[in-house]
Amino acid sequence: MRVRGSVDIGVTVSLSSSLLSSYAAHPHRRALVLGGSSEARALATRIAADPRLAGVISLAGRTSAPLAHDLPARVGGFGGVEGLTRYLIEERISHVVDATHPFAARISANARAACAVAGVPLLVLTRPPWVSSQGDRWIDVDDNAAAVSALGAAPRRVFLAIGRQGVADFRAAPQHDYVLRVIEPPQAGDLPPSCEVIFGRGPFALADEIALMRQGRIEILVTKNSGGALAYAKIEAARMLGLDVVMIARPASADAETTHSIDAAMAFLAS
Ligand code: NAP
Repeated sequence: MRVRGSVDIGVTVSLSSSLLSSYAAHPHRRALVLGGSSEARALATRIAADPRLAGVISLAGRTSAPLAHDLPARVGGFGGVEGLTRYLIEERISHVVDATHPFAARISANARAACAVAGVPLLVLTRPPWVSSQGDRWIDVDDNAAAVSALGAAPRRVFLAIGRQGVADFRAAPQHDYVLRVIEPPQAGDLPPSCEVIFGRGPFALADEIALMRQGRIEILVTKNSGGALAYAKIEAARMLGLDVVMIARPASADAETTHSIDAAMAFLAS
């Protein structure tokens, strides 16, 4: 026999009823941390040090040399909502913390749907977005297409600090000279015609960001509003140099209980 669980974002999942009932019969604490962020790494360290808790961290597998974590890691997609639901049940996960990057919208939506079907409590752990302060020259936009428009028609020297995902959108504005900072090499076909690729993984120091922007004769910065301290130096550097910043807003997020606090996430896991 199979049962169907449906959640209000219109996703339907089929799982065997024996799998679901054996899962419900075993209360325990075993966390799944959806990772790919500094918050996820910090939470993994706290869980590993807490004898009440067990857990696993999940990485998408985008980087070839991921940073080490203090929890066992699984790598790669689950196979959509159905795959994640199955994983939660088969691995007897009691709690999920979605600590993915704020721009990783699909996995967050999948987590919300899968947790609803499997009846597993979900908490979103994310960093607060940056807010502009005096001296900032932000142009707020909703997405990459709007960021491309905000660069204007006249050629400019642009620091693209958006990672490699979505860089192809900037091929629509080939008149600009870009400096793209990435962790992993981008696809050559994704790059605008004039694009210098530099490699780096945060945190970045303010003095280095200022030097990079000066040496690159950068006129405008494009960034996602990722939030957090590790990537903030580029915002400060742009402020100090009087540069415009095209600030891409976060995608709409799934409606789920959310915290910015690792302590709150630990309390949730111990509940
Ligand atoms: P996404 O668009 O939300 O997810 C695409 C697919 O990748 C998901 O449907 C899922 O595949 C898989 N996936 C994503 N995160 C996963 C995780 N933690 N564990 C297992 N599978 C995962 O995600 P994205 O924007 O490509 O980001 C991928 C990863 O990089 C995330 O873990 C995120 O935290 C990290 N990251 C993203 C950004 C960014 O700007 N987007 C920046 C820094 C770090 P299935 O459907 O097959 O399960």
